[in-house]
Amino acid sequence: MKNNQTKEIIPGIHHITAITNSANVNLKFYTEALGLRLVKKTVNFDDPYTYHFYYGDEPGTPGTILTFFPWENMPPGKQGAGQVTGIAFLIPQHAIDFWKSRLEELRLSFETEKRFDEEVVRFADPHGLSLELVETKRLPDIRPWDRSTIPPQYSIRGFHSATATLNSVTESAMLLTDTLGMQKVASAEKRTRFQMATGVGSGVYYDIVENPDVPGGRMGSGTVHHIAFRARNDTEQKRWQKIIAARGLNVTPIIHRKYFRSIYFRESGGVLFEIATDPPGFLIDEDISKLGEKLMLPDCYESRRQEIEKRLPDLDAAVA
Ligand code: ZN
Repeated sequence: MKNNQTKEIIPGIHHITAITNSANVNLKFYTEALGLRLVKKTVNFDDPYTYHFYYGDEPGTPGTILTFFPWENMPPGKQGAGQVTGIAFLIPQHAIDFWKSRLEELRLSFETEKRFDEEVVRFADPHGLSLELVETKRLPDIRPWDRSTIPPQYSIRGFHSATATLNSVTESAMLLTDTLGMQKVASAEKRTRFQMATGVGSGVYYDIVENPDVPGGRMGSGTVHHIAFRARNDTEQKRWQKIIAARGLNVTPIIHRKYFRSIYFRESGGVLFEIATDPPGFLIDEDISKLGEKLMLPDCYESRRQEIEKRLPDLDAAVA
């Protein structure tokens, strides 16, 4: 029997990063159609001619952040085993009919299902990334953007959960519960739900759908690259690094990402996990009123700003 009182628990999802192949289409979809705020417009730190977009709530709270690498010529990927195959957003109670009408207006087909007593609407973004909306009674304490295209009573309040598809749940589930401190809270048919921290806030659930027959996914446009979980500070992150290494997993050194610090490791089911610090956050280089308006470059690229801006894709072109 483990001593649960001293067990560390991951507090929630920090961000989810996906791949797409048109920066312009991606930007318009997430800001105009879904009403999220672009909280940071920067470049891929390893590939500065590619944007890196971060969408979220007004200040960019961990648990609300969906990020994209829009590689313009990236062929479509294939969703499958070893990937996060569903990204679910929280919406307020009684918002689901509004969203169904909105998806119809946007000519996006959707399906609905009941999942653990909650109504879920499933649809895909313009590049095939699987998205979901889940109504909740307990809204997390986050601030939707006051200039959102969506009225505040309906607006997205960060993540509800992420779903991974795996060929086998057993070993990955042990990592979640024994190492990362999550709690198995529900299961039905092929789906098992794990809860982080106290279950309050955005992004506190991680679901695994087990299907031994699903072929492995292939990275490309419309697929998730990785999921990041939160560390509240650097001390917590260092502790996680030790705990994960002690489990025999290959965890990276701490990498500075300007808006957070990161460690990465791959879980046995194939999903790339990251643990990212809450601080310093997205207000480190921009005022809250101006988040996402200007291209923010890390210091190492600032001297090349003109050249980089010229080569980045046009974000003002009309989208058909
Ligand atoms: Zn990340």
